[in-house]
Amino acid sequence: MPDLFSKPSQRDLDTHSEPSRIDRDLKSHSCAICGKPASFGFGVKLMHGIDGRWSCFEHRDDVKRIKP
Ligand SMILES: [Zn+2]
Repeated sequence: MPDLFSKPSQRDLDTHSEPSRIDRDLKSHSCAICGKPASFGFGVKLMHGIDGRWSCFEHRDDVKRIKP
């Protein structure tokens, strides 16, 4: 799929901290504190359909402290 890489895009400029490929495969989550895209999930039990609490990098400690 050469089209994806044929030209530098805004996306390339924005990936200062490159997200992992796993993040892109998962459905997107939002930080419970600020609403930004979240990469850290707590209490997630996919086998039981429990989505848990999600946070961005900055708020992962805050979200971790939240009692369910
Ligand atoms: Zn946040």
